[in-house]
Amino acid sequence: MNAFQKNVPDQTFETLSQQGEFTRLAVSPGIINKHYTPAQFQKIAEIVGEKGAIKYSASYSIIVSVPTSAAAQAVQALQEAGLHIAPAVPNIVMKACDFCDGEKMEAVHITEQLYHTLERIQVPSRVRVNVNGCASACYNPSFDDIGLVYQNESFDVYLGAIPMGAKAQAGTLFAKRVGVEQIEGFVLQIISLYQEYARPHEPFYKFYRRTKSTEYWEIVKDSIK
Ligand code: SF4
Repeated sequence: MNAFQKNVPDQTFETLSQQGEFTRLAVSPGIINKHYTPAQFQKIAEIVGEKGAIKYSASYSIIVSVPTSAAAQAVQALQEAGLHIAPAVPNIVMKACDFCDGEKMEAVHITEQLYHTLERIQVPSRVRVNVNGCASACYNPSFDDIGLVYQNESFDVYLGAIPMGAKAQAGTLFAKRVGVEQIEGFVLQIISLYQEYARPHEPFYKFYRRTKSTEYWEIVKDSIK
């Protein structure tokens, strides 16, 4: 049995950082696609080699640690292998379900559009937006800062989740049936409130829970009527 006590890694991100300067890259097959090809796994192994380290994360990506001096080359090689590398300091992190491995693609176009709209926006603290393609909500969108659940050409929007820690809690339904054509503007209004009224570095859930009875949230809700 080697799954527990006897299986402590020698080479961790921590031990590497004591040896020199290392850069961490969050690698995935895409925002939607969760399947790696064997060739992509081989490429990751080749790039990390004996010097780096690999570990999986809770955010649907593999984190690789490579010497900083080789990081730019590593990014290029991983991208050439068809892999997605998340921005180094993402402000708004886009997550999504796998859309039934491509079987339920209705919300994919708008998910991609949202990704491009949100990717460079600066916010007080990292915000995770999680889009799921149907009411089954397999990838737990209500446990991310802004959870979007698609059904029938519209989204239900969940806000206020405490994503981790002893007090972790799902968000609550903020708005129901926001049309596909309205969702981008709707999310941007939410982000604008966060930019304008949050305290420095205030996490999104704290901001939302502190302010949710203020009038400006009602104005956002009314904007879809
Ligand atoms: S949430 Fe719906 S569309 Fe997405 S993977 Fe689950 S069942 Fe498929």
